[in-house]
Amino acid sequence: MKKIFDTKIILNEEVAKNIYRLVVEADIDGKPGQFVNVQLGSNEFTLRRPFGIAMLDSDRLTMFYRVVGKGTKFLTTCKAGDEINLLAPLGNGFNFEVGEKILLVGGGLGLAPLLYAAAKIKNADIFIGGRNSEEVIFWQNEFKSYAENISVMTDDGSYGHKGFVTDELPEALTTTNYKKIFVCGPEIMMRKVAAIAKEKNISCQVSFEKRMACGLGACLSCSIDTINSRKKVCKDGPIFNADEVFYNEV
Ligand SMILES: Cc1cc2nc3c(=O)[nH]c(=O)nc-3n(C[C@H](O)[C@H](O)[C@H](O)COP(=O)(O)OP(=O)(O)OC[C@H]3O[C@@H](n4cnc5c(N)ncnc54)[C@H](O)[C@@H]3O)c2cc1C
Repeated sequence: MKKIFDTKIILNEEVAKNIYRLVVEADIDGKPGQFVNVQLGSNEFTLRRPFGIAMLDSDRLTMFYRVVGKGTKFLTTCKAGDEINLLAPLGNGFNFEVGEKILLVGGGLGLAPLLYAAAKIKNADIFIGGRNSEEVIFWQNEFKSYAENISVMTDDGSYGHKGFVTDELPEALTTTNYKKIFVCGPEIMMRKVAAIAKEKNISCQVSFEKRMACGLGACLSCSIDTINSRKKVCKDGPIFNADEVFYNEV
């Protein structure tokens, strides 16, 4: 059930350049793929900022964020013990059965919701994509406890295979009988993964990111066109079947 509540920060640490792990006390339920709307302390920030649920256990909620603008910059100044207000859980979440053979494909901070997905699915494999070694090594360590097989790719070749997650995808889909693919990352990556999945006839769910305000489906600021109708990313998504949102040319 959705809740709006004040809570305490347990940890806010930089895990790679400009990437932070934020752990807060939270007694909530949440599915992989759902997100949290975070109120930033000062009056300067009217709108909450959305972040994916990266882990939810023992009344602790973990999120990872990249510093990109004023709000996330402000968040870096928050310390353990500080109070923070959350609206959670929001959105729909991935659709899966525990134990299904699923391939997770993530790029950058898109890996955050996939971590919680890996923990819940139990035997998922993960393709981790990032700009460089610093951006992928901590993710690899995070996924070690939850994913069965981990493949890492970097744009600059400084760690794992050089290239994009899509380079090795066709072969992986041939050697392992994946039932579904869940992908979260830059739109271009999601479109390419979706196209490969379609070619191989594998169901693909994507996590859509759109600037949003209320997070509750009321303000319509995150509306998108889908194959059937106009939908709200915050309420009908952020998880969509790839065919529904990527119906035009890749
Ligand atoms: C469902 C969802 C889940 C997300 N999960 C994560 C995550 O786990 N980790 C992470 O680092 N980032 C995530 N993002 C992106 C994150 O919300 C933005 O990077 C953040 O809001 C930027 O805030 P800012 O004030 O630093 O940037 P500014 O650009 O100054 O923000 C200005 C306004 O735009 C909104 N905004 C800016 N960028 C985005 C964006 N990409 N998506 C939605 N709203 C945006 C902000 O909420 C704010 O209202 C997610 C976005 C969505 C929609």
